[in-house]
Amino acid sequence: MNFGSVGKWAKWAVVILLVLLLFFLFSPPLQELSWEETSFSSLREKMIKEQIEARGVSDSWVIEALRQVPRHLFVPENLRSQAYQDRPLPIGFGQTISQPYIVALMSESLGAKLGDKVLEVGTGSGYQAAILAEMGCQVYSVEIVPELADLARGRLSELGYDTVKVRAGDGYLGWEEAAPFDGIIVTCAVDHIPPPLLRQLKEGSRMVIPVGPPWSIQTLWVVEKTDEGVVSHSLGEVRFVPLVRQEFSPE
Ligand code: SAH
Repeated sequence: MNFGSVGKWAKWAVVILLVLLLFFLFSPPLQELSWEETSFSSLREKMIKEQIEARGVSDSWVIEALRQVPRHLFVPENLRSQAYQDRPLPIGFGQTISQPYIVALMSESLGAKLGDKVLEVGTGSGYQAAILAEMGCQVYSVEIVPELADLARGRLSELGYDTVKVRAGDGYLGWEEAAPFDGIIVTCAVDHIPPPLLRQLKEGSRMVIPVGPPWSIQTLWVVEKTDEGVVSHSLGEVRFVPLVRQEFSPE
């Protein structure tokens, strides 16, 4: 028997075992991560099928955006497992992320096209802004709570939506320097259409806006600015947190 060659093989076996051990010790927990991602993506598919398509939203750009944006990363960590449920969720500071169906309905009704410049009033979590960015829009979003504006800005850039511009301020006034817009989406309730927003909307473009009393039921309107004036139609009843006005010094 040749013990010399057995010794050589044993040495190689030890080296291989060590390499494998180091690999398992220091490699990232791929299994766990992909399981989590897979389960969120299947919740997203279920949400699209049962809450969005079943209620008649069919725009393929909107559907694809809903498929791509990880909604669970826009809610507080302890609510992630509820992120794909058919309801709004609290995001802190007394505010909420809208119900997925309402985000889909508003995005579809805006009629935005690739490259359109869109203003959002009420950034909140940044989810609606991410959906519009995913649809290929250039998004300008205004949020009155500075902490929420900061959080949303950070989250959006971390997720690669760094074309979205977020500003802390009073969205009632729009975003004068970036106007006019190809679309305006207002995600907080107003009791009248803010004149600055109508002024900043391009002719032939739409604004989607919930109008009605605060802390009650409002009507979601699609307001189109035509050369003959404003033409509106209702999308039904909704409940949004109110648009608030306050003195605010811009950043
Ligand atoms: N679009 C958000 C949800 C918005 S909730 C999302 O996808 O998560 C409504 C938001 O409007 C809240 O964050 C609230 O702070 C904000 N808001 C209220 N009044 C505002 C105002 N005057 N200007 C800008 N944002 C306002």
